[in-house]
Amino acid sequence: MAAVIPNADFPIFKVCTKCGLSKSPADFLVGKAHCRPCYNAKRRAHYWHPEIKAIKNEKRRTYSQRSDIAAKRKAFRSRPDIKAKEKQATKQWRSRPEIKERLRQYTAEYSAKPEARVRALFSSARLRAAKKRLPFSLTEEWVSARVIASNACELTGIVFEYGKPPNGWHKNPFAPSIDQIHAGRGYTPDNCRMVVAAINNGLGEWGDEVFAHIASAFLKKRAVSKNRREDRDGQGIFTFNGESG
Ligand SMILES: [Zn+2]
Repeated sequence: MAAVIPNADFPIFKVCTKCGLSKSPADFLVGKAHCRPCYNAKRRAHYWHPEIKAIKNEKRRTYSQRSDIAAKRKAFRSRPDIKAKEKQATKQWRSRPEIKERLRQYTAEYSAKPEARVRALFSSARLRAAKKRLPFSLTEEWVSARVIASNACELTGIVFEYGKPPNGWHKNPFAPSIDQIHAGRGYTPDNCRMVVAAINNGLGEWGDEVFAHIASAFLKKRAVSKNRREDRDGQGIFTFNGESG
């Protein structure tokens, strides 16, 4: 194609074979019969075509899985300056309000799953045992059988809950927790049981007898004062909406 030099006195036009519009030669890439917008639209459609995209993705995948390429990338990413850069970028990403909210929601949903709770209970007990140098021989299956299969506190029969309390409390009093029957003897199957978190806090290092003594004294005294003021929600079933205590 002959070179077309735009001239203000004799404007030369070129017709796009796609859209049919007469345009200045400056609106065409050299040697192309489609104008720039038409040419770009064609390229864009090609780029985003699902089949073309799939081929490209496949190529990219095979390339990045090549052992030499993977090693190169690993070496690059383990450089201290690159590591710091990545850390900074992640930090910035996580501090975006919409990401923060999404992560918070994800964590809440994930930790409300019984399976996730079993894993967390198991690993935090193992960590505690290691820190305090206590025996540890529980398995995740042992915890799972008591949390998911029986799904109730071994001391009170209260059914376990997994979500956050709806009233804004930090911890759910009815969440499952691992209790050492004899505090300090370690996390072994014969020294452990699953109880609701609130009971575990109450048992502390003192165990069943002390707790039973306190609990019965508490109930006795409470019954007396309840009778006096004829409390209407003294019927046993606790709700987070009702006033407690
Ligand atoms: Zn065109």
